[in-house]
Amino acid sequence: MSRPKMPVRDWQAEVYAQHQYWIAGKPIHMAVGDGWAEVIARLFDRIEKALAGEPVPTKIALIDVKEKYGTIRVDLLAPVGPETEAAIDLAVLLAEMRSECTCDICGAPGTVRSTLGQSGWLAARCEDHSDGFPRRVVKGPPRRRIQDRRGTFDLVYDRRTDTIMETAVDGGDSR
Ligand SMILES: [Zn+2]
Repeated sequence: MSRPKMPVRDWQAEVYAQHQYWIAGKPIHMAVGDGWAEVIARLFDRIEKALAGEPVPTKIALIDVKEKYGTIRVDLLAPVGPETEAAIDLAVLLAEMRSECTCDICGAPGTVRSTLGQSGWLAARCEDHSDGFPRRVVKGPPRRRIQDRRGTFDLVYDRRTDTIMETAVDGGDSR
């Protein structure tokens, strides 16, 4: 006798129902906390907008959506043109950065925290859900350092506006 499978959580069923026409194959279970439902909803909305620029209706295969090191990881296969691909890449980056500052239990503003000791489990949590994760790992807003021919830049995420700002780091010229 096999046990019944874990049901897909309601918010996952809902977001899939709203976006099923551009998702190839059966919905995969997204291994993230309920607090990130809004992160996923924003991601799917952005992917849908990006796909509107494709000349023909295009489906995307979601390979894997999960939490790792306190951040959302999105693995997908999109047979799209370069402009749409860039828009989808940006949508995924925005989702990653939002997940870093969104409690994965309740969806309130939070930060990546770790357990004490060697094991160092990480999770994005608000103050109310910081039990077991006492140490703040990320200080300030989520950021990614990038280097290109212009110099070195930080991409800094603003949670309120859900946007990324680019700021130059020593010697880079952003103007
Ligand atoms: Zn919380």
